[in-house]
Amino acid sequence: MFGPPGVGKGTQAKILSEEFSIPHISTGEMLRAAVTSGTELGKKAKSIMDAGQLVPDDVMIGIVREVLGAPNVRRGFILDGFPRTLEQAKALTKIFHDLGITEFKVVNFQVNEDEIIHRLQNRLTCDKTGEIYNAEMDSLKANDPCPDCEGTLRLRDDDKEETVRERLKIYHTSTEPVIGYFNESGVVANVDGMGSIDIVSREIKMMVMD
Ligand code: AMP
Repeated sequence: MFGPPGVGKGTQAKILSEEFSIPHISTGEMLRAAVTSGTELGKKAKSIMDAGQLVPDDVMIGIVREVLGAPNVRRGFILDGFPRTLEQAKALTKIFHDLGITEFKVVNFQVNEDEIIHRLQNRLTCDKTGEIYNAEMDSLKANDPCPDCEGTLRLRDDDKEETVRERLKIYHTSTEPVIGYFNESGVVANVDGMGSIDIVSREIKMMVMD
């Protein structure tokens, strides 16, 4: 799942992961879990994430190599938030080669930037399950109890407006070139991320099942 922050990658990844019973591998969620449990990785990553910057390539590549080597991804998987740099994209090609993974698609979400900023400021995440809610649509606010479990809804520290702008800037400079890299091998499926969750989800399924 590829695209700027706030385009709905995580939401769609969760839907597809449930529908096809394959793991949803979100590097952002793994880092947030490491921050919450206070591991060495979490301690290093927290200030980088809060500033909207990218965690170093070698760290991220190591994590993804380990996760993709695990037996539960043999039937397929959804990678969300990786690769975010050319270096990571090249490393992923090597990891796929080493693991014999030959069939994959890069789902490239497209939405406009004003919409992204609006979406992120309305994004609430359950601190227990990671489920995503929309403050406006679901009539909820930060620190409300989760409507579906005993968790609490939080606005992510990196979803504040100035951090979102920094994340978008980094997306354009470091992450967007990755699409050019994958375009060369014809694996990119462009998806209009502006539609409703259901429409986008259907569009993705049609493209990746092709
Ligand atoms: P996400 O949940 O995908 O928006 O990721 C949240 C934050 O985690 C990002 O803004 C980065 O600081 C960090 N992060 C997640 N994935 C990566 C990655 N592949 N490379 C570098 N940093 C990452």
